[in-house]
Amino acid sequence: MPVIDLSLDVHALIEKHFTGMYSGEIGVSSIGGGQTAAYKALASLDISGYANKRSEVLPKNRRGATVLSPYIRHNLLTLSEVFGAVKHAPFKDREKFRDELFWQEYARHLYARVGTRLFENLRFDANVVSPGDGWNRDMLCINEMVSELENDGWLVNQTRMWLASHWTVRNDVGWLAGQELMFRELLDGSRAANLLGWQWTVGAGTGKPYGFAKWQVDKRAPGLCTACPLKGNCPINEFPEEVSLRQVERDPILDHDADVASTAGPSKPVFTRDATHVLLTIDSLGDNDPALKANPDLPAVFVFNETALTKLQLSSRRIAFYIQTLQDLNTRRPVQALMGDPYLFARENAVAVTYAPVPSFKKFVNLAEVHPYPWLRQPHAGSVRSFSSWRSQFKS
Ligand SMILES: Cc1cc2nc3c(=O)[nH]c(=O)nc-3n(C[C@H](O)[C@H](O)[C@H](O)COP(=O)(O)OP(=O)(O)OC[C@H]3O[C@@H](n4cnc5c(N)ncnc54)[C@H](O)[C@@H]3O)c2cc1C
Repeated sequence: MPVIDLSLDVHALIEKHFTGMYSGEIGVSSIGGGQTAAYKALASLDISGYANKRSEVLPKNRRGATVLSPYIRHNLLTLSEVFGAVKHAPFKDREKFRDELFWQEYARHLYARVGTRLFENLRFDANVVSPGDGWNRDMLCINEMVSELENDGWLVNQTRMWLASHWTVRNDVGWLAGQELMFRELLDGSRAANLLGWQWTVGAGTGKPYGFAKWQVDKRAPGLCTACPLKGNCPINEFPEEVSLRQVERDPILDHDADVASTAGPSKPVFTRDATHVLLTIDSLGDNDPALKANPDLPAVFVFNETALTKLQLSSRRIAFYIQTLQDLNTRRPVQALMGDPYLFARENAVAVTYAPVPSFKKFVNLAEVHPYPWLRQPHAGSVRSFSSWRSQFKS
């Protein structure tokens, strides 16, 4: 498999090794990748005021969102680590923030359980596939947010909801294509959280779509509408009509997991033979990756999945984030970055890997070592139908 030269600068490296595998112009987000950047963000984490400010959009200095998601997504920061880091924060902010960490954990548990079923309406019949482009960029609120998504690869939760709602609830375009566009750009893009976010916003998760209107823009980004070319003729002046979506056939997998042990992955390391490499995956790129930690003397390998990248056409900012992460790790221990097929690499070498709660993990066979996933809470076999039913089964 071709070796990727991590000594090149990110721009040159993408140009040299990733032709045909990304969308848009080559660019790098203002949110840097890597364990060092993640620890820096964690060290300056201050969630005072979070409960009141997490949904603020503009001006940017009013935002309470922490922007930790790209690091959490790739387990550069585990949910447990972040959960522990706020133990001295004011009660209301701590509880709200931890609630959001639990939403992330819920997304992971749900996806681990239902897998690709999360690409279909889970509980209610929202528009999945109608064609079109649901983001009219002549509206300043939409244009600003899509531009931020494209330039930084990140959005606050509030504007993710605006965009998802505008796409499907207002413009009646199928949510699957909208989530794919967002997934392409987001540095924190995960199938688990992105599909969950779209399903819940468009009503497929709750039956009650989230309505987006000028009201939220005035509240969360005051002043934005005054500069909008459509200010005398705002297409979202009123809330969309409230609807209750039809329920889809009840899916028993949401009520009970017949094989929770497979969903959760191993709870202790599983060894079949001596490993020669640690294989990192996109779901676990941190210094504390369990397989990496258990094998301090083995070389680390990351294989960019050529077929998947060619198909997905992720933004170059996402690819840059991965490269920065590998370059940063390479300053502490040797990392080999390859282009090819990670599953083939795992078949042909004796690799140690950390379990990832995603359907594609099943493609790994013949692993030398499998290490447990760093869950915040161990998955249970009970209901994942709603966040509250899922959460109620944990004592804390
Ligand atoms: C349509 C839509 C798509 C989304 N796509 C993704 C995605 O691909 N990846 C992703 O990580 N999150 C996604 N989210 C959830 C959420 O918007 C982001 O996690 C959050 O905005 C990240 O910013 P932050 O780190 O500043 O969050 P903070 O508000 O600071 O929260 C701290 C952490 O809690 C977790 N979190 C916060 N809100 C949520 C939530 N609603 N659901 C799940 N986890 C949450 C994240 O890990 C986040 O980093 C999506 C939400 C919506 C509505």
